[in-house]
Amino acid sequence: MPLTHTAIVIGGGVAGMTAAAALGDMGHEVHLVEREAALGGRVLELDQTIKGSSPADFVAGLEQRVVDNPNVKIHLAATLEDFHGFIGNFSSVIATADGKRTPIDHGVVIVATGSQEARPELYGLGQSDKIVTGLDLEHLFSAGDERLAGSGAVGFILCAGSLEDGALYCSRTCCQQSVKNAIRLKEANPERPVYVWFKEVRTFGLLEEYYTRARELGVIFTRYDNDSKPEIVSVGTAANGKPGTPVRVAYIDPYLQRRLEVPLELLVLATPTVANDGASELSKMLKVPIQGDGFFLEAHVKLRPVDFSSEGIFLCGGAHYPKSIDESISQAFAAAGRAAAILAKPALKAGGVVAEVDQDKCAACLTCVRICPYEVPTIDPVVKKAVIEAAACQGCGVCVSECPAKAIVLHHYTDAQIFAKEEALTMEVS
Ligand code: SF4
Ligand code: SF4
Ligand code: SF4
Repeated sequence: MPLTHTAIVIGGGVAGMTAAAALGDMGHEVHLVEREAALGGRVLELDQTIKGSSPADFVAGLEQRVVDNPNVKIHLAATLEDFHGFIGNFSSVIATADGKRTPIDHGVVIVATGSQEARPELYGLGQSDKIVTGLDLEHLFSAGDERLAGSGAVGFILCAGSLEDGALYCSRTCCQQSVKNAIRLKEANPERPVYVWFKEVRTFGLLEEYYTRARELGVIFTRYDNDSKPEIVSVGTAANGKPGTPVRVAYIDPYLQRRLEVPLELLVLATPTVANDGASELSKMLKVPIQGDGFFLEAHVKLRPVDFSSEGIFLCGGAHYPKSIDESISQAFAAAGRAAAILAKPALKAGGVVAEVDQDKCAACLTCVRICPYEVPTIDPVVKKAVIEAAACQGCGVCVSECPAKAIVLHHYTDAQIFAKEEALTMEVS
């Protein structure tokens, strides 16, 4: 099969830029498609990483690598408007906000569309500028908000909307983000009270050292569960540049077995990380699955963690599930490696276990067209019979079993072969 030695990477955040730069460095032509007017993604909203480095500096360096790479073509304020084809021979149209449409033939696709922070109507979020999300707090740090330099108490509610109906999964980065910012607040002013209410503290791996550091600095961690959530007694106010009234949070201290109430200058909610807008539409266009929570679903969690079940389409970054910057970069290299394994070949070989239509028997009933989970069979407009592209067929056999005219054979699993195996199994050996 012929092969187009070009890749499309959808998403210009850290994962997408890393994958594009890696493929470009290997000498492959890459089209990097970003729907916003600038590269960088959500990482740019962070003021500082947990290790104390600047995400903006890192993104600027990565962006420069991509911009300087002659093999990478960047499409900003652009989306994938059309997509069809199969591994090695995809055809897409990239549409930009100014109405320009660019058709591109490519051999592989990498999905790196990222994730976003949810803003659920919980714990008074949206009712007061003293109740903010984790990303809001990053913005306040970046803006040098004077409340962060004072001595007023700050509270963090972890899992604000997570590990319960609506977002049963763990967003994985909000614990470390909250612990990081609790440490920053304590280091800026050791006298300021900092509270963290948690269902779980998932500072996994070596991040546990930051959890220890936060406790050493005097951050007060208190467990709650879904039946004993902290309550917002007052959302607080800020008037005419004056401090206003504090947020008041009541909670059950499980150690004291008492209900306590604390006034806060600022309450920070670790809200769930959710799939980015547009993930569902993109999944339909690429014909790749998403899970019930909206994140893209890999082909196999252990054996093919950056592949989709459709050949030639790969996945990395927050579009897969909530990830740290380090994890997104590692996965982007993995996706680029898998894509490069295809692009490095001079041509493709179609697999042996593929379905083939005997057009003399085909009644063009469309059963195979409708039932194939990979949407491979089509009706040839000239002869008006079904046709199956061998390079795209996954060999699952569904169409073979459903075809009412018995017009499809699955090579290596023909009726004669299956019957022969059955006969051999039931043969009596004397
Ligand atoms: S990472 Fe987020 S969702 Fe997971 S336990 Fe921590 S706060 Fe809850
Ligand atoms: S199901 Fe069989 S008869 Fe119907 S269109 Fe497909 S190959 Fe033809
Ligand atoms: S064998 Fe499976 S993947 Fe191939 S055309 Fe039939 S239903 Fe589609």
